[in-house]
Amino acid sequence: MSKKTDADISREVAESARETEWKKPSFAGSLFMGNFDASPILPFAEQDPEEKRETDEFCAKLDDYLTKHYAADKVDEEGKIPEQNIKDLKELGLFNMKIPKEYGGLGFSQTAFTRAAMVVASHCGSLTAWMSAHQSIGVPQPLKHFGTQEQKEKYFPMMAKGALSAFALTEPDVGSDPARVATTAELTDDGKHWIINGDKLWTTNGVIAELLVVMAQTTDPDTGRTGISAFIVETDTPGFEVIHRCEFMGIRAIENGLLRFTDVKIPRENLIGGLNKGLKLALATLNTGRLTLPAAAAGGAKLALRIVRKFGQTRKQWGQEIGKHDAVSGKISYIAAHSFAIDAIAMLVSSMADEGKADIRIEAAMAKLFTTEHAWTLLDEMVQIRGGRGYETARSLSERGEMGYPAERMLRDMRINRILEGSTEIMHLFLAREALDPHLKKGGKILDPKVEVGEKLVAFMKAGAFYAPWYITRYSPFVSTESFESEPQPLHKYYKYVARTSRKMARTIFHKMNKHVAALEYKQRVLGRIVDIGTDLFSISAAASFAAYHMKDKPGDKSVLKVMETYFTFAKQRIDNNFVELKKNYDSEQRSFALDVISDKALWLEEGTISEAGTLQPDFSKVKGGKTADSAAAGKNGKNGTAKKKDEAAAPAPA
Ligand SMILES: Cc1cc2nc3c(=O)[nH]c(=O)nc-3n(C[C@H](O)[C@H](O)[C@H](O)COP(=O)(O)OP(=O)(O)OC[C@H]3O[C@@H](n4cnc5c(N)ncnc54)[C@H](O)[C@@H]3O)c2cc1C
Repeated sequence: MSKKTDADISREVAESARETEWKKPSFAGSLFMGNFDASPILPFAEQDPEEKRETDEFCAKLDDYLTKHYAADKVDEEGKIPEQNIKDLKELGLFNMKIPKEYGGLGFSQTAFTRAAMVVASHCGSLTAWMSAHQSIGVPQPLKHFGTQEQKEKYFPMMAKGALSAFALTEPDVGSDPARVATTAELTDDGKHWIINGDKLWTTNGVIAELLVVMAQTTDPDTGRTGISAFIVETDTPGFEVIHRCEFMGIRAIENGLLRFTDVKIPRENLIGGLNKGLKLALATLNTGRLTLPAAAAGGAKLALRIVRKFGQTRKQWGQEIGKHDAVSGKISYIAAHSFAIDAIAMLVSSMADEGKADIRIEAAMAKLFTTEHAWTLLDEMVQIRGGRGYETARSLSERGEMGYPAERMLRDMRINRILEGSTEIMHLFLAREALDPHLKKGGKILDPKVEVGEKLVAFMKAGAFYAPWYITRYSPFVSTESFESEPQPLHKYYKYVARTSRKMARTIFHKMNKHVAALEYKQRVLGRIVDIGTDLFSISAAASFAAYHMKDKPGDKSVLKVMETYFTFAKQRIDNNFVELKKNYDSEQRSFALDVISDKALWLEEGTISEAGTLQPDFSKVKGGKTADSAAAGKNGKNGTAKKKDEAAAPAPA
């Protein structure tokens, strides 16, 4: 038998953590098969009136506090959120939203949480990261879904009183691919404790958290199988250290660190979600945890819209307001239409999470992918529209007598969202896997080289019986209006477009599977385009669902239909382009050149720049015994030096 490669192992680990069952309908998932049924997203689920009133009040209080007492630009400059702000915001309940009411929290729904996150994100990216790392991926979320009664009774009240938490998965060698988690948790001989050893990198809140969810490699004593498990760790346990407080391009006031665990002994009961079930827990946590990013994107996008609207109408150059110059108006249109679509997706998926009638795995991943990508482009366009003012800091602008819009900070703060909680590339892989899944279930055996000929033949017959009628109906122009007939008539055309285009997308997937067979898995750019088409189709549906809600809320306001139509034109254009590129592209040529580049075959391209010695070299004195991603390149693994104690690392604000 051939030996498993690292890639095989990574794939197996990812596959074992995947939820394979679909117990509830998936609106977006069905689109990849060319099946359209809008009922999971219709009608747009409005917040319960009583909860809406409470959320309105909470958001108004939050807005008032942040406006009067929270200096976001100073926070960014100093890289530190003042203790008084954190104290006040804890009292306000900002860190308690996801703690159930019976344990002293606010017990917010996902919709309420999303709305509050939008307010915060439109003011300060660092604060959004603080609240998100604690409540979206930190202890409250997995505790709610996977915690035992004892764990809930112990930790929820602690957090309700102010303890903050963090989620520690990433390690120097473990980023997008969790298969190689090197941190270990071993059961003591008496079976009463776990002993944790290892390093965790970039843990947001890790520097100040009292509680951590830590992912570590474990071995099942009964079967000998290894896997990844999740543990709740109290950071005052001996052996826990913060080695380094990391500094970043944006969200500069986050308390993010390189953490070290040396024989950290925790009670057996602190395993959460079951032995070797940690990755499943992480993925399930992220299904709703990921929704803070769309909320953050919506907060930033809507503020950007305000900034470009005002600047577009007041700044005059070449004899007219800059918003009237064609090139700028195209950007303003993009910003306005996409801030609406981002808002629609953030609110729709949150309401779907609350309703619980559909499986939102795919929608949540699409929401993360779409909103973080477009928010970045949109903020970049905002900076462009502001011209030199877009590049100037808010403080500098206001000190010389102009409105201190924080355009450059917003751009810096937003950038990370395309990388963390599943990078754009990983979201593409995740969604492509789900898009292909129904086909792999029907015809996977035909493609599998390990399957015997006889078995393949049976699989072929079965698949044929399914695919013959399926394929023919993917060409049908007929769309049943049943699932959207009670929606406003002017919106029907969007649902019809989504239904028909989803069939074209499903046919394309089928054709690509036939063409590339098992190699399709490696055609990431082909799959990426298909995923982007599916995501845009979902975005059009979400926007239409949200438009109906606004039409009811603002009867007679023609701007709702206009923004919907404008958004549709942008999304349709992208979809058309992606179909064209699926037919004709230069992927292989471009890939071949990239492989040359990383094989050092075109080094001359870099000539005329500063020599590598001009770049800061690894400083191993600060990372005692720690491995860094660049240690291999530097030929060292950092054996010397002293680690900083938690307090030392936490105390000073970086320059
Ligand atoms: C500010 C900040 C906060 C963070 N907070 C946390 C936290 O609280 N907890 C935590 O555990 N982690 C956290 N992280 C880590 C974050 O989740 C990782 O950065 C992210 O998972 C990507 O891993 P990586 O940086 O090691 O990139 P890598 O995995 O090294 O990837 C590098 C690039 O290659 C791409 N890539 C990787 N694999 C593939 C593939 N198979 N196909 C195509 N492309 C691929 C990636 O998309 C990326 O563009 C944080 C990081 C930062 C910077």
